[in-house]
Amino acid sequence: MEYRKNDIVTLEIVDCGTDGEGIGKADGFTVFVKDAVIGDTVKAKIIKAKKNYGYGRLMEIIKPSPYRVEPVCPSARQCGGCQLQAVSYEEQKVFKEKKLRGHLERIGGFHDLPMEPLIGMDEPYHYRNKAQFPVGRNKEGRIITGFYAGRTHQIISCRNCAIADPASQLIIDTVLDFMKQYGIRAYDETTGKGIVRHILIRSGKSTGQIMVCLVINGTRLPHKEELIEVLREANPQIVSICININDKNTNVILGRETKAIYGQDYIEDCIGSLRYRISAQSFYQVNPIQTKKLYDKALEYADLHEDETVWDLYCGIGTISLFLSQKADKVYGVEIVEQAVKNARENAALNEISNVEFFAGAAEEVVPAKYRESGGTLRSDVVVLDPPRKGCDEKLLQTVIQMEPKRIVYVSCDPATLARDLKYFGENGYVLKRICPCDMFGHSYHVETVCLLSKRSIMSM
Ligand code: SAH
Repeated sequence: MEYRKNDIVTLEIVDCGTDGEGIGKADGFTVFVKDAVIGDTVKAKIIKAKKNYGYGRLMEIIKPSPYRVEPVCPSARQCGGCQLQAVSYEEQKVFKEKKLRGHLERIGGFHDLPMEPLIGMDEPYHYRNKAQFPVGRNKEGRIITGFYAGRTHQIISCRNCAIADPASQLIIDTVLDFMKQYGIRAYDETTGKGIVRHILIRSGKSTGQIMVCLVINGTRLPHKEELIEVLREANPQIVSICININDKNTNVILGRETKAIYGQDYIEDCIGSLRYRISAQSFYQVNPIQTKKLYDKALEYADLHEDETVWDLYCGIGTISLFLSQKADKVYGVEIVEQAVKNARENAALNEISNVEFFAGAAEEVVPAKYRESGGTLRSDVVVLDPPRKGCDEKLLQTVIQMEPKRIVYVSCDPATLARDLKYFGENGYVLKRICPCDMFGHSYHVETVCLLSKRSIMSM
């Protein structure tokens, strides 16, 4: 049977899509329903209909799923940040494993996956060490901050995010009060006018250090001395107050330049026995407790020997590089963000580690260039890849294969591009030996994975 827009259908939700949406069937017609949970029976209104499938809006839960829980956050349904808060944490883990498995089978063409159980979180709330709150105005013209509603730029006012650091609430209130008191306007995307675009808060969970960075449309923030005073009073853990200049009409949150207006332009945090320096622009995993577990797994998979060389590609501030350097002869890191490379070098010095070297640039350019310069002799015992969501460029994958590493450890935040890249390695002499998903982002549909690939000839020896 075919359905049309505005039809109301009753559905049993039998599956969960990659974005966490519920999937139900009505007379052979598949309907994707955001906010419906696997196991629910729901009434949905068709909002978009194709021949065999459509999208529905959840209208009523006729029979709730046994996996359904009351979301902790009242804005959970509107906010684009958490897609799975209405699903029990146990079931979220099942969903993530299944999502990973599905992508590896469908896109990667793998069977009999050597998959370990997902490493879950002990406390899936307030785990994040970084939050970026957009600043805007509501219909009445009042300055607000909160989160973007799913897939839009409409700001949902929210001050007590269930996954953010609880210290953020007082900090954002303090910034908003400061803006009101001195008449400092929120940036308006449609007119390009106004000053404050985002409030970025970073905290070092193990050191307690906090950075507050205001992303501003312009080069100076009026009354900055007053801001510094109220922020320091609000939270003495703040060791860094920065402004980041972003005067472009863009969705990208941060501009290129960051200046400290109080304290240093970085904070420090520890993972295991290592201490890391992190600036506003640098990538740093948002969930430090799970990061330790993820890096331990990467280290286990790398199975390093003291005489071995490692290339850590997409190394950020050198977190994995330094972690591995304790067990290897030499580690080379490559990272595109210069500020992060600067941090990586500082971090090596901070931890008195001398067997690491970092290069700034795109991995797909730096590594092939180094390989050419070496006349094709560049080799590495282990290669670590930890790319952003879009995965690795094929030029890089080709060079990695030419470097003939015995083992490749691939850390991924996107199962689809992971599956694509693993397939490439599979077709070029590597065997997928181990896979372990790790939950870094409770309540979201994201799943982080670490994989081990071994060179085929080594296996048959
Ligand atoms: N391994 C690090 C960072 C992983 S996130 C950690 O665990 O903390 C991915 C990193 O890749 C980011 O730091 C990003 O700036 C960097 N990056 C993005 N595109 C890149 C490219 N083409 N070449 C090198 N690095 C890149």
